[in-house]
Amino acid sequence: MAANAPITQDVLTIPRKLPEGPTNLVGLTRAQMKDALIAIGTPEKQAKMRVNQIWQWIYHWGVRDFAEMTNLAKDYRATLAENFTVAIPEVVTREVSTDGTRKYLVRIAGGHEVEVVYIPETDRGTLCISSQVGCTLTCSFCHTGTQKLVRNLTAGEIVGQVMVARDDLDEWPEPGQGTGDAGPRLLSNIVLMGMGEPLYNFENVRDAMKIAMDPEGISLSRRRITLSTSGVVPEIARTAEEIGCMLAISFHATTDAVRDTLVPINKRWPLADLLEALREYPKVSNSERITFEYVMLKDVNDSDEDARRLVKLIEGIPAKINLIPFNEWPGAPYERSDWSRIKAFADIIYNAGYASPIRKPRGEDIMAACGQLKSATERARKSRKEIAAEAGLG
Ligand code: SAH
Ligand code: SF4
Repeated sequence: MAANAPITQDVLTIPRKLPEGPTNLVGLTRAQMKDALIAIGTPEKQAKMRVNQIWQWIYHWGVRDFAEMTNLAKDYRATLAENFTVAIPEVVTREVSTDGTRKYLVRIAGGHEVEVVYIPETDRGTLCISSQVGCTLTCSFCHTGTQKLVRNLTAGEIVGQVMVARDDLDEWPEPGQGTGDAGPRLLSNIVLMGMGEPLYNFENVRDAMKIAMDPEGISLSRRRITLSTSGVVPEIARTAEEIGCMLAISFHATTDAVRDTLVPINKRWPLADLLEALREYPKVSNSERITFEYVMLKDVNDSDEDARRLVKLIEGIPAKINLIPFNEWPGAPYERSDWSRIKAFADIIYNAGYASPIRKPRGEDIMAACGQLKSATERARKSRKEIAAEAGLG
C-alpha cells in the first residue's frame, strides 16, 4: 500500500508531486508523516511544525478536507490536497442492537470487509476493533477462525476504525467551539478483540495504537486500550515494551491437552511458555494486571477441577479472570455452559482472591458478540477438515 511505502532519499529529490499517487496520511507515524511532507517540498525546518498542525486537524478535530486546515497557507493546502488523502474505511452497513450495541461492517482497500463493534456501558464506551481480515489461527470455538486469513490491516485501517466510530457517535469537537475535552467520552476504551490475531500484525497494530494514544489527537490512555492475544509468546514482551497497553490473553483451558484442541497455537507455545511470558508482562509494561479470558464451554473446560487448576496456574500473576459464556454461531461444535456451572466456576476463582466477572453477551440480536464476527461477504472458508486437523479433533 502506498500509505506504508517507505519514503526514501530518492523521493526527496522529486519535488512536490509523489510519483505513486496520493498517499493516505491516516496511519502514518509522526516520523513517516514528516518524511512524506518533506518529500513534497516542505522545508525540513518547518516539517515538524506542519506535522503537529496536520496531526491535530486529523486526529483531534476529525477534519478530512485539507481546505479546512485554516492555519496552513492556502497554496500549501492545495499542495497537500494534490499529494495526499485523509481516508478511513467506508461504512457498508451499520446495525444497532436493542441494547445499544452498534456493529459496523466496513470496507477497506481491495473490497475486503471487517467488523467493528461499539459497546456502550454506564461508565464507558468500548470499541472492539479488528486487526486482520480473517485469521490464520483456527481456534475451534471461534467463528473468525473458520475464515481464512485474507490480509493484515494497515495501521491506517486499524486507527481508521476508531475514526469511523467517532464519526458515527458524532464525537469530534467542533472547530472553534472549545477544545472538545469536556465531559465523559462516548468512545473511551479500545479492545483489540475483533477479527484477527493482533500479534501477527504487530507493527501495524503498534503504530495504530500509538496514534490513538497520542495526546495531540484521539488521546486515549494506554490503560484504556486492551490487546487480546491467543498467545503469540515471542511478541508478548514486545507488546509490553513497544505498546505498553493492557493485555488480555485467550486462556480458555487449564491443561495442554484441552488447550491444544481449543487454541491450536498452544501446540507451538504451550501453557508453561505462555505463563512465563505473562509473569513478565506487568513489570515491563507497568500495567496493573492481565485479563485472562476464559470461554465457558459445556463439559469441555468448565469443571470445578478446571477452576481450581486455573487458580493454581496463574498464582503470582496480578490477574482478572473474564468468564465469557460461549456465543454460539451456526455450525459451532460447542454449547454454552449452564448458568449454574458458570456461577460455580466463578465462585471458586473469586474465593481464591481474583475478580471473576462473567461477561454479559452484548448485541446478540445483531451477531455482534465476541467470537461471532465474520464478514458475511468473505467466501474463502477453511474446510471443516482443515479446522479439525489444526485443532487435533480430526
Ligand atoms: N485473536 C485474538 C483476539 C480476537 S478474539 C484472541 O484470540 O485473543 C476475542 C476474544 O473472543 C478471545 O478471547 C476469543 O477467544 C473469544 N472468542 C472467540 N470466539 C468466541 C465465542 N464463540 N464465544 C465467546 N468468546 C469467543
Ligand atoms: Fe483467531 Fe482469536 Fe478467533 Fe483464535 S480466537 S481464531 S486467534 S480471532
